[in-house]
Amino acid sequence: MQLSSRAKQVSESITLKLNQQAVKMAESGKQVFNLTAGQLPFKPPAHFIEKIHGELNFIKSYQYAPVPGFRELRDKFMEYTESNRGIALDRSKFDCVISNGAKHTVYNTLGTLIDPGDEVILLAPYWVSYPEMIRFWGGEPIAVGSTVHSAFTPEIAEIKKAISFNTRAIIINSPNNPTGTHYSKEWMGEFAALMMEHPDITIISDEIYYELTYFDPPPVYFYQLEPALLERTIIVDGISKCLASTGLRIGYCIGPKSFTSSFGKIQAQTTSGANSLIQRSLKDFSYDELRVYLTPIREHLRNNAAALREALRENNCSSAWYQTTSAFYFLIDFSATPIVARMREAMKTQTEVIPPDHDFSAEICENLLEKKGLAMVPSSAFGVPNAARMSLVLEEGPFKEAIARLMDFINDK
Ligand code: PLP
Repeated sequence: MQLSSRAKQVSESITLKLNQQAVKMAESGKQVFNLTAGQLPFKPPAHFIEKIHGELNFIKSYQYAPVPGFRELRDKFMEYTESNRGIALDRSKFDCVISNGAKHTVYNTLGTLIDPGDEVILLAPYWVSYPEMIRFWGGEPIAVGSTVHSAFTPEIAEIKKAISFNTRAIIINSPNNPTGTHYSKEWMGEFAALMMEHPDITIISDEIYYELTYFDPPPVYFYQLEPALLERTIIVDGISKCLASTGLRIGYCIGPKSFTSSFGKIQAQTTSGANSLIQRSLKDFSYDELRVYLTPIREHLRNNAAALREALRENNCSSAWYQTTSAFYFLIDFSATPIVARMREAMKTQTEVIPPDHDFSAEICENLLEKKGLAMVPSSAFGVPNAARMSLVLEEGPFKEAIARLMDFINDK
C-alpha cells in the first residue's frame, strides 16, 4: 500500500521499542527493572474515583460532550489556574478548551499556530513528541541545547540566537520531562524580557507536571512576571500526571479567545469533545484533595532522588548529578561517568575515526538492558547526546537494586 510521506517521516518511538524488548526479557524469566515509566504507579485519589462512580448512571455521561468541553469544567480549570498561578484571566479575552490528553492539546495547538516552513524553538532536552508533532504540521523544530553543568538549563543568549524571521512559536516545558527540574524564577524573568522583545512569537507553556514538585521553590512562569505575555501564551495542562490518570485522556489549554476558537474548529472536525464521563466526574472534584494525595508521592520521589545522589557520590560520579526538583525523572549524563570514554575506546579498535559528536545513548541503553536488566530511555529521543532518562517512581527496594546495577555497569563490573 502507498503510504503518505507525512506518515513515513514519523519516527518510531524508541521508548516503545525498548519497552517491547524489556517485556520480552521479563516474559523469558529474566529480572527486568523498568525505569522507562512516564506515569505514577498509583490509583487516582479516592474522592475522584467516587465521583466517577457517581456519574456512571447518567445517560449524559455516555453522550457526546460539547467540542471544547463542558463549560462548567472549562471554568473550573480556568479558576484553578488563576488561583494556583496567581494570575487573572479576563473571561472576555481568554478561554479554555479540553482535549483528549495534553498530547492532543499540544498537537492541536501546533496545528492552530504553524504554517509549513514556520520554525518552532525547543529547549533541549525536550519532550520526545514535540519535534515529531511540529514536523507533522510542516514546521521545523529548532533546538537550543544545554548540558548537565547547568542542570540542563538552556542559556537565554542561546535562545536569542535561535530566533529568526521564521520563528512562530517556542515551547517551554517546566517542570521538565526528561530532566525532572523546573527553570528558576531568575531564568523565567530573563526569558520574559526576551519574549517582550519579540512580539510575534507565541509561547506554548507545557505545565503538565505543575503539581509534581518536591523541592522548593515551586515553578514560576514568565507570564507571572510579565502579565502582558499572557496575550500570546498557551498554557497546557491536564490530569494525567497530577491525578495519576494517564489512561483517562483529559488535557486542556488556556489561551486567547482568537486562538481557542480556531483550536476548537480543528477539534470539531477531527476528534470532537473529550470523554464525557470523566469530564462530568471532574467538575466537582476538589483540587484541595491533591495536597493530601500528593504528599507521600512527593516524599517518595525526594527519597529516590536522594538515594541516586548518594550512589553517584559514592561511585565518584558526582559530576553526573544535579538536584532534581519536579516531575519524576532524572537524566543521567553518561559522559560524566567512565562509560562514554570506555565505549569510545572500544569502538576505536573497530573503526578508524569516531566523530567527536558520536552519540552512544542508544548503545548504552541496549547494553544496560541486556547486561543489567535495566530499561531506560536513550537521550537521543530528547535532543541531547550520551544520556538516558530514568524514572524515579519505582518502589524504594527495587529502585535501590536498579541503582546498584547501574553503578556496577558504570564501574564495568
Ligand atoms: N507534555 C509532557 C512534557 C509530557 O511528558 C506528557 C506525557 O508524558 C504530555 C505532555 C502528555 O500528557 P497526556 O497524558 O495528558 O497526553
